Amino acid sequence: MPTVLGLEGSANKVGAGVVRDGVILSNRRATYVTPPGTGFAPGPTARHHRGAVLGLVGGALADARLRPRDIDAVAFTRGPGMGAPLAVVAAVARTLAQLWGRPLLGVNHCLGHIEMGRLLARAPDPLVLYVSGGNTQVLAFCRGRYRILGETLDLALGNCLDRLARLLQIPNDPSPGYNIEQLAKGGQRLVDLPYVVKGMDVSFSGLLSHLQAITPKLLASGEATREDLCFSLQETTFAMLAEVSERALALTRAPQLLLVGGVACNRRLQEMLQTMCSARGAQLCPTDERYCVDNGAMIAQAGWEMLRAGQVTELDQSGITQRYRTDEVEVTWRD
Ligand code: MG
Repeated sequence: MPTVLGLEGSANKVGAGVVRDGVILSNRRATYVTPPGTGFAPGPTARHHRGAVLGLVGGALADARLRPRDIDAVAFTRGPGMGAPLAVVAAVARTLAQLWGRPLLGVNHCLGHIEMGRLLARAPDPLVLYVSGGNTQVLAFCRGRYRILGETLDLALGNCLDRLARLLQIPNDPSPGYNIEQLAKGGQRLVDLPYVVKGMDVSFSGLLSHLQAITPKLLASGEATREDLCFSLQETTFAMLAEVSERALALTRAPQLLLVGGVACNRRLQEMLQTMCSARGAQLCPTDERYCVDNGAMIAQAGWEMLRAGQVTELDQSGITQRYRTDEVEVTWRD
């Protein structure tokens, strides 16, 4: 019964979690929250993670009622993500693996989301919609890899939401996306925004530029409220995601659509995808806030699969990589 400790720190969350054979034994997380109107820069984020990571590892072991000798391997996020925060967590993972004499598992962050989603939904072969601050991809497993059927051509959707929050001085606590979702419930008017779908790809950068250009005037004239802008951004971008997901479902005939990534916990997104899936006879598998937002357990779960397949990472191959596409990984643990 291999037990894997997973460490995550590719963006503003740092986490440590323990997984044993499909059972999540613990999952501790800390979030670096910056003041309204600002984002998180690599340097301060890395300092935050450096201050938090050892406490999280200790907490994750305590919650799981385990000692270091009970851990069979140490998984960590190799990338993609921000360089400095990734490097902090990777250094801790390498140190623990050497101290404890255990193998290292360098995990692709995106695969962490997918493998955790597959575990929780008990969905062996779903179509995957992965939407977060750094990634927006439609994926399906085919011939040994998660193939990218569609993706954003520029900004990730979560980043687009973060940027609207900054523009409107919406607080980052607990997260900008959560606060946008709450404000959007009060939206009355749908502001016309660019809707950019190209096949199964999407684009958000023109939409964001347009919003940045029109927002001061709309707010000053009273033509639209902050609530209207949040509502309009959600309705427009979520409709784009529903369209490309539907196209991918039609292509793959997948029975299930697995929704993962930090934006996956948005109830309005879940609702729109549910409507689309129901109309097609597909099942939507959403993930909840504990596991769709970046966390250590998902890295442990992907690491557990790698360990099972003998796909361990040598120390001299354990460097981080800021760019690491989902389809670069050979998925040896699936048929
Ligand atoms: Mg993520």
